[in-house]
This record gives sequence, structure tokens and C-alpha cells, in this order.
Amino acid sequence: MTTSLNRRLLLQGALAGTGLSILPLQALAQTRAAIVIIGGGFGGATAARMLKRLLPDAQVTLIEASARFTACPFSNLVIAGIRPLALQEFGYETLQREGITVINGSATDIDAASRAVTIENDMVIPYDRLILSPGIDVRWNAIEGYDEAASRRLPHAWKAGAQTALLRQQLETLENGQSVIMTIPPAPYRCPPGPYERASLIGHYLKTHKPASKLILLDGKDRFSKMDLFREAWAEHYPDQIEWRGASDDGTVRRVDPATMTVFTDFESHTAAAINVIPPQKAGWIAERAGVADATGWCPINPLSFASQLQPDIHVIGDATIAAPMPKSAFSANLQAKICAIGVARSLSGLLPASTTLANTCYSFTTPNKAISIAGVYSNAANQLQSIEGAGGVSPLGAAPSVRAAETAEATHWFETITQEAFG
Ligand code: FAD
Repeated sequence: MTTSLNRRLLLQGALAGTGLSILPLQALAQTRAAIVIIGGGFGGATAARMLKRLLPDAQVTLIEASARFTACPFSNLVIAGIRPLALQEFGYETLQREGITVINGSATDIDAASRAVTIENDMVIPYDRLILSPGIDVRWNAIEGYDEAASRRLPHAWKAGAQTALLRQQLETLENGQSVIMTIPPAPYRCPPGPYERASLIGHYLKTHKPASKLILLDGKDRFSKMDLFREAWAEHYPDQIEWRGASDDGTVRRVDPATMTVFTDFESHTAAAINVIPPQKAGWIAERAGVADATGWCPINPLSFASQLQPDIHVIGDATIAAPMPKSAFSANLQAKICAIGVARSLSGLLPASTTLANTCYSFTTPNKAISIAGVYSNAANQLQSIEGAGGVSPLGAAPSVRAAETAEATHWFETITQEAFG
């Protein structure tokens, strides 16, 4: 069995026990319900395809702001100059061929009472069920001075595309000896290990292209995902390139000044030629508009079907949700999409949602040829998401280069599988 098949089975296997096999298939196949999905990323595109397969007669409509999707996983390789940005892009042609109506436009309003979505050209689309997978938005000015204009000088690159290209370009124009700063927020945020993978790959770029330059990480916390593994890799590969400062070492950034390329912590200021601000985040703004986000800025859900706790007939999946201990990852969004699709199909057939087992694996590259991973397994029984004790874990410390190399191959197969499931 190939690794790629293993990954596919892992994604599918996590659905075992959802009760799909006991669905009254005839009833399901006949439903003509209107199901609208907002956001055609990892969660939304996967949910649309799954629903069309479960309910072939339903009207499945996907509303997506961009004509093409640009994936964040593997975008840190683009920033380090190891992978072209074009390989991150995916279209919606397969979804259209499968009978899904894809509307290229931004959803601007949701009327939960009359069950209708308004799109930017004032088109109104009614729904029987609505699924939101809008990803994240930046909390502008949560760090003083960091607004949308500042992000054009100090890119976040936490939504892939133009921001990814901008950060790449800034690294390319950096002179040997000039510094780079990355600021990292406290949890929760999209992709917990993502900043540290990015740091590793920028470290690799500096070591191989600008050896007198340094990357300073200013972090709003003292512990992070796969911390011991990342620090082991940095000590081995980038002792002269990467310096990390946690919250208790004055790492929390309070203010930025794009004009002078300066960041301010409680007690110090730091300047650099390139600054990557990974800012505090919240659910994509349409979630607030729909009334499904709470005071935290994220969306409380019922984990059996990812139904909103705040609005009827609306489900929320992916990064926008409060789904801890599941991390905000493409892997989580994929599984949540499938569980949500099954939950919607069951509810349209008059059935209650069924409990199941969920999983997540996040790979991180520490060099172009080495990767590490963390895996978790979760249950949503009793309407609560909980880690299953003793399942999951992290890559071993001190592993041979061949073990790390094997994980890069697994990561690559994972990326192929997850994008294939979303976009065909
Ligand atoms: P998204 O995939 O972001 O999709 C949201 C979509 O909604 C977007 O296409 C957006 O245009 C659309 N949208 C938003 N609002 C509207 C609106 N009003 N109208 C119409 N469309 C709208 N995860 C992993 O599992 N593994 C990894 O290795 C990994 N690496 C990462 C590396 C980096 C640098 C980053 C930043 C993230 C990484 N992630 C990784 C996380 C992963 O990208 C996200 O968790 C995933 O994209 C979440 O899926 P989603 O569907 O919630 O949101």
C-alpha cells in the first residue's frame, strides 16, 4: 500500500461510524433542498462535493470571492524560494462539472430569519441550509498601527496569494547582513505550527543566500506546537540564523511603525529590513454578519454536525469555528466538511446527527528535505470535541535524516490528497 493511499484511508477512515451506512439512501437521493456554501477553500469546496455526492438532486451552490483558490499549506516553501506559487492555485471546474453551481463573488449579507444570502451584485440566493467556511480575517489594529495599509509594507502572508509573493520578494531584495523580524500571535490562530515552519524555511534561505542575515522571532507565547522538534532543528541547522524570544522574554509585539520599519514590545524596539507580522485573527467577517460568531470573534458549533449554536439552519466549518482541541488546519477543515455534509444530509432526511471519530495531522518542513509532524485523534461523542487519550503524538526527537525525509514524502502525498478532495 502506498503512503498516499494510507493518507487517503486516514481521511476516509475517520468517517467510519458516522452512520452514513444507515442513511435512507432513497430519501436522501430525492431531496431537492437548496444548500448554499460560502467560501470555496478547504472546508467549503470539500463540503460542496460531498453534499452533491450524498444528495444528487439537491441544488448545491458554492459562493467564492476569488476565481481561483490559493492554498496556504506549502506556501512557506514558496516564501523560501523552493516552490512556485502557481502550484498553490486551484480552480473550480471539477465542481462545476459535478453539477455544483459556483458563483464567483463575495457574500455580503445573510438574513438568517428569511434564510437568504446576498451577494455583492445584490443577487439574493435563498437556502434551506447554509454552510459557512470563510476561513480567517485579520484583527486589524489589534497590534497598534497594523492596518490593511501597513500589511502592504509588513506582509502577514497568512492568506496565500499576493501576500505570499510580497514576502518572498522582500526576502529576495534583502541585503546580506540585514535582519528579518517575524511576529507571532498568541493562540488561537490559523495553523499553530505554521509560523515555526516558516521560520525554519526562511532560516534555510538566509543560510544559503544571505548568511550574515538573521531572523528574529518575537512570540506572544512561551510554548508552541512541536516546540522541542523545531528547536532541535534550529540548533542543528540554523544556530546563526534564528533567534526566538517568547512572551516572558519580552516577545509580545504591541505596536508597529511601517514608516521606520520598527516593532515595539513592552520594553524594547526592533528595526529590520523585512518584517512579517502574523497578526491576531478572527473568523472571516461574514460570520459576524450572519450572527454565528460570538464575543471571541470565532463561531461556537455543535460538533456532531457543525451546526451553529447561535443560528438555525446555518453550519460553520474550518478555521472560523471554535473546535479546540482540533487545530485550525486544512486537515481539520476537510474532515469537518465531511461530517457537516453528512449531518446536513441526515437532518434533511429527518435523522439526528451521529457521533464519530475525527483526526488531524500537521506536517512542517524544517529544511527542504526534512519534515516533522503532529497528529491528534478526537471524539465528538456527547456533543463535545475531546482528544482521545493515548492516540496521536509527534515525530520522535533525534530521528535519523531518513525518517525526516520520509515525512516530507508523506507531507507531499497529503497535500495532493487534500487538494484533490477539495478541487478534483
Ligand atoms: P480557507 O481555506 O481559507 O477558505 C476560505 C475561503 O472563503 C476563501 O477562499 C475566501 O476567499 C472565501 N471567503 C471568505 N469570505 C467570503 C465571502 N464573504 N464570500 C465569498 N467567499 C468568501 N493546514 C494544514 O492542514 N496543513 C498545513 O501544512 C498547513 N500549512 C499552513 C501554512 C500556512 C503558512 C498557513 C497560513 C496555513 C496553513 N494551514 C495548514 C492552515 C490551512 O490553510 C487552513 O486551516 C485552511 O485553509 C482552513 O480552511 P477554511 O475552509 O476554513 O478556510
